[in-house]
Amino acid sequence: MHGLLAEHSARLEDEVFGKADILLKVQPPTIDEISHMKENSFLISFLQPYNNVTAIKALAARKITAFSMELMPRITRAQPMDALSAMSTIAGYKAVLIAASRLPKFFPLLMTAAGTITPARVFVIGAGVAGLQAIGTAKRLGAVVEAYDTRPAVREQVESLGAKFAELGLAAKDAEDRSGYAKAQSEEFYEKQQQMMFKYVAAADVVIPTALVPGQRAPILITEEMVRGMRPGSVILDLAAEQGGNCALTEPGRDIVKHGVIIIGPMNLPSTIPFQGSEMYARTVTSFLVHLLKNGTPHLDLDDELTRGPLVTHQGEIVHEVVKARL
Ligand code: NAD
Repeated sequence: MHGLLAEHSARLEDEVFGKADILLKVQPPTIDEISHMKENSFLISFLQPYNNVTAIKALAARKITAFSMELMPRITRAQPMDALSAMSTIAGYKAVLIAASRLPKFFPLLMTAAGTITPARVFVIGAGVAGLQAIGTAKRLGAVVEAYDTRPAVREQVESLGAKFAELGLAAKDAEDRSGYAKAQSEEFYEKQQQMMFKYVAAADVVIPTALVPGQRAPILITEEMVRGMRPGSVILDLAAEQGGNCALTEPGRDIVKHGVIIIGPMNLPSTIPFQGSEMYARTVTSFLVHLLKNGTPHLDLDDELTRGPLVTHQGEIVHEVVKARL
């Protein structure tokens, strides 16, 4: 390790928090770590800005200029810095592999001397970055794939991957915001969506819900009754588990069986492909760092939305309006 670091003119430090002027991290810092950080230093990291109140307040109190990778704006210039999309790509791919390995069935159609094997049916709810990757991966494994998303623009993307867009006959109101993220819908809408999805969920061997609304608990889209309607041995791989889960029975971080259905609520799937996971994340973080630097030192242009967008704390204040409002 030391040799590898030396090759890149780096060295391993025992106590990095008290020494770093600029700290790049994967997980949000703990309160203890923040208390050791240098005042007026810079931090670029995932911060879970909407539900990490104590840490955000501690960062402001320590006068740290902290950037949250989750809040990167979705503009063309920010694409190489889009850590969420990079991690969602991994999660969508891995979700299918885990579900396929747990399902007591084949994924592809097989013609064998011992009979014809029908392909598995996969239903993906939410076709954003993770969902589209899950659709592509499930198709490559030979499954029959259906998908649904509240954003109408997604239909074409789903179909271009060879999957079928589930026809629920629902019109989401004001489905997406300026940056392409889904907007929350009313309770009545979610109830209707549950009813309309009942038969798709019941027909599926694998359901992969990925539906998220930024800054909010994931909407419940699969009720206990819907789980009861599924065949024993079917799998729900809930990619929204970290945000509370899209299935009412999901236990984040656990792998359970309810009504004969395997319900998996994985946490931090990107870490299960650490090789490219690290490479991809490192690339997004360093691209952002390079954007901030001028002649080797950070230079903040607060009129630039690429700098301002992910900035959470600066000069002792919480400066991100949405985060501040949530706290
Ligand atoms: P996300 O992880 O926040 O949400 C996942 C998906 O769940 C989204 O497609 C969302 O529409 C969907 N969803 C929310 N509520 C739902 C419900 N009730 N039922 C079904 N689906 C529901 O989103 P994401 O994957 O990060 O991104 C969404 C879109 O943003 C992408 O598809 C892409 O088009 C766009 N995007 C743009 C950029 C860019 O311009 N730089 C970068 C990344 C993504």
